[in-house]
Amino acid sequence: MGKLLKKIFLVDLFQGLRVTFRSQNPRSIVTEQYPAERPRIAERYRGAPRMNTNPETGESLCIGCNLCALACPESLIVMTSERNEKTKRKELATYTFDLSRCMFCGLCEDACPTDALELTQDFELATYTREGQIWDRKMLEEGPRPTRYKW
Ligand code: SF4
Ligand code: SF4
Repeated sequence: MGKLLKKIFLVDLFQGLRVTFRSQNPRSIVTEQYPAERPRIAERYRGAPRMNTNPETGESLCIGCNLCALACPESLIVMTSERNEKTKRKELATYTFDLSRCMFCGLCEDACPTDALELTQDFELATYTREGQIWDRKMLEEGPRPTRYKW
């Protein structure tokens, strides 16, 4: 077929539409329907940090040793601890984690001797402000609360 005839009968357009409609079968759809369907996350994925607590007592597993802060190449973990005069044990006082600078390398959780700090499979970390990227101890213990959009 000549070029002119192809143009007159819109052959290219119909060829393109044939490809488009060939992919309309729902079984051919490979795009993940996020957020309607939760994506499968790799087992070893490192996402949102979490500060673990003892499930029975609710006490923090953190012993205030500062090893996570020292291990972090970005120096984004800032924590303070104080000595409990009754138990003579060091206890965590304040803890901040600047998520905006984190590269999720996992060195902090590897350094933690009590498994208090953990990088979880939560991946929804977007915030509307830069300040929202700085998580305090409460946020780390309770975990993120991302907005769940409905269709
Ligand atoms: S994952 Fe890496 S960059 Fe992020 S806080 Fe831990 S050590 Fe620092
Ligand atoms: S390394 Fe673990 S126990 Fe030590 S301060 Fe960090 S979170 Fe707490």
